[in-house]
Amino acid sequence: EEQAKRKELHNQIQETKGMFLPSAKVFCRCRPLNKEEISAASATVVDFDAAKNGDLGILTSSSTKKIFKFDRVYSPKDDQVDVFADASPLVISVLDGYNVCIFAYGQTGTGKTFTMEGTEQKRGVNYRTLEQLFEIAKERSETSTYNISVSVLEVYNEQIRDLLATSPTSKKLEIKQSSEGFHHVPGIVEAKVDNIKDVWNVLQAGSNARAVGSNNVNEHSSRSHCMLCIMVKAKNLINGECTKSKLWLVDLAGSERLARTEAQGERLKEAQNINRSLSALGDVIYALATKSSHIPYRNSKLTHLLQDSLGGDSKTLMFVQISPSERDLSETLSSLNFATRVRGIELGPAKKQM
Ligand code: ADP
Repeated sequence: EEQAKRKELHNQIQETKGMFLPSAKVFCRCRPLNKEEISAASATVVDFDAAKNGDLGILTSSSTKKIFKFDRVYSPKDDQVDVFADASPLVISVLDGYNVCIFAYGQTGTGKTFTMEGTEQKRGVNYRTLEQLFEIAKERSETSTYNISVSVLEVYNEQIRDLLATSPTSKKLEIKQSSEGFHHVPGIVEAKVDNIKDVWNVLQAGSNARAVGSNNVNEHSSRSHCMLCIMVKAKNLINGECTKSKLWLVDLAGSERLARTEAQGERLKEAQNINRSLSALGDVIYALATKSSHIPYRNSKLTHLLQDSLGGDSKTLMFVQISPSERDLSETLSSLNFATRVRGIELGPAKKQM
């Protein structure tokens, strides 16, 4: 079945090649009820009746339903292949020289990591993206050559950590701008990947490194942004044209607000930093949408890192992840409101060349 779906996907890709609209897309994905919620017979607040049209219904009370509009809405029945099928035109545009940013936003436990990383059996966007890049690169090998490399970073408490570094660096990692205008972090590992097997090893290494030095891995990962950067250098063998582009795949820190009583010491600092970076992301996107003369990329490490792939000639896709459960309603509404604001963004159509 997976094979059939992939074939269908491939046909779609051929049709949509180069036609992806240059604006921010927002896809909403709802996780299934978990075991605990099922045994507690938790009420659900989501309604997928018009999901095909991109409408998500939220029962805000027993008599009120609020409709949110997105580019796609996925119910728990939709699988990783369905989700990737809709993201893939964006991925392909990276090979054509566009900068792209795909990020997952939402409360902890709503499936951000499931969507981006997935599991070995149900691989997520990160793996499928690279798999597709290699596939298309191979198809185009008579007319183009591609050089693909990968970095994996974590941003925690406004500090950048290189998850592919084999030995800890004492030097603080900082964002610099290259002579070509690209934002980068000097000194980080850029692992060249030639095939999908290399990719799996790199992604695993990054994932394992996330656990090092934290006593609670889940807690740590919910409070940090995990950022995979794919750099593509393309050369057109026919006209000699070269392009360089960058694809960011980001699993953001949990967007949940902290209970007042919990917020003390280190935990308070973490919460403030998460808030600051997520609201900085919202502010950047809002400034782009309203064509503001100043785009505040520098207000957080997150937005500063993503600068080349947010705004200008780049393409943005946000997954807003939600829980179906009534007890998460207020966080769900807050995520959906954030996502609605993001969806207004319009980006220019120019293509980056070198
Ligand atoms: P987050 O990264 O947002 O904290 P996770 O990705 O860790 O959330 O998801 C929480 C749990 O829910 C995991 O056990 C994950 O496998 C499961 N889950 C999330 N989304 C789905 C889905 N669409 N289908 C099946 N299981 C899911």
